[in-house]
Amino acid sequence: MISVDDISNSNQIIAEDDFLDYALSHGFGDLHFKVDPATGMKAIIAIHNTKLGPALGGCRFIEYPNTFAAIQDAMRLARGMSFKAASVNLPLGGGKSVIIKPKGPFDRAQYMHQFGRFVNELNGRYITALDSGTELPDMDIIGEHTPYVASLSKYQGDPSPSTARGILRGIQAAVAFKLGKESLNGVHVAIQGLGHVGFLLAQHLHELGAELTVADISPLAVERAVTEFGAKAVSTDQIHKVPCDVFAPCALGAIINDITISQLQTPIIAGAANNQLAHTYHGKKLHDKGILFAVDYVINAGGLIFAASKYLHTSEEKINEQIDDIYTHLTEIFALSAKENLPTSEIADNLAKEKLS
Ligand code: NAD
Repeated sequence: MISVDDISNSNQIIAEDDFLDYALSHGFGDLHFKVDPATGMKAIIAIHNTKLGPALGGCRFIEYPNTFAAIQDAMRLARGMSFKAASVNLPLGGGKSVIIKPKGPFDRAQYMHQFGRFVNELNGRYITALDSGTELPDMDIIGEHTPYVASLSKYQGDPSPSTARGILRGIQAAVAFKLGKESLNGVHVAIQGLGHVGFLLAQHLHELGAELTVADISPLAVERAVTEFGAKAVSTDQIHKVPCDVFAPCALGAIINDITISQLQTPIIAGAANNQLAHTYHGKKLHDKGILFAVDYVINAGGLIFAASKYLHTSEEKINEQIDDIYTHLTEIFALSAKENLPTSEIADNLAKEKLS
């Protein structure tokens, strides 16, 4: 159960018997449920907050052990979206939806038609987008029934370059704040995960003269980084232990946990992965250890800025400006954290909550 009013730690679990109390105490606007007897589709839309604008958030289409697990997923992710949008001043609220994937056979297209009607019934309070298990063709079907879709084939584009640009800005802000360096030349970054974001990040860092150590479960990705960027390769169970200037988690959530926290040898954590802290108290532990944590949902907001731009028709220049502002947002969080002697995760939550209240 989430006992404290935070979001940096959305790995925690909401208690089944009081999820409406959780909704009440954590500022949820509405929870919507839809079942369609004809197709068997079961879906949930959680709208956390619409003070700053309509709630934008992806639609998951994955299997869940039970309905409550799906409700919980939608709720905790919706709240995370409110905080993420607020942290980078987007005119959007936070929402998330889930279509429960059945274990048996089903008609995918019919599910998406029904879901599109469901989204449309909310008259724009919720805008849907891609998430785990949904693909652009699904979004195109949904878009036949509602204009409230931020990911469509016609929009094209991958959010990862925007996310990677934001991570780079965040690393620059953290290095300037913690190490007093305006340049990344010679700064040693250990990157965990060389996927869509991690690989582009490695490329940017290499271009700016950073020294790289990398790990990935894909030997091919590692080989490319070694060949193209002169990176040093280490195994996946060693990357977080590398003595470095910046540890950049770009693979998994909950990487900062009871085991890894004492093994870190870095003054800065700044990477793309969502929900990096296994628990809220890890934010405090990092702070107490003097490790500067670039709060995950702020540093990785470039992807949301990109997705929102399609719906909001933001110009390319403005998108880049909003992404580059991640530097300023994080610097403000770092400075307040130092001034108030509070973890950056707590400061970021407080700033977002102020904007949402
Ligand atoms: P991805 O799936 O393309 O890349 C993840 C990489 O991590 C893969 O190369 C995978 O092989 C590697 N990996 C998996 N387990 C690993 C391990 N134990 N050790 C080292 N490497 C491991 O994902 P992505 O799009 O690059 O996103 C990376 C992270 O950033 C994810 O947590 C994602 O949720 C988050 N994120 C991504 C975006 C985006 O725009 N893509 C936006 C916001 C947040």
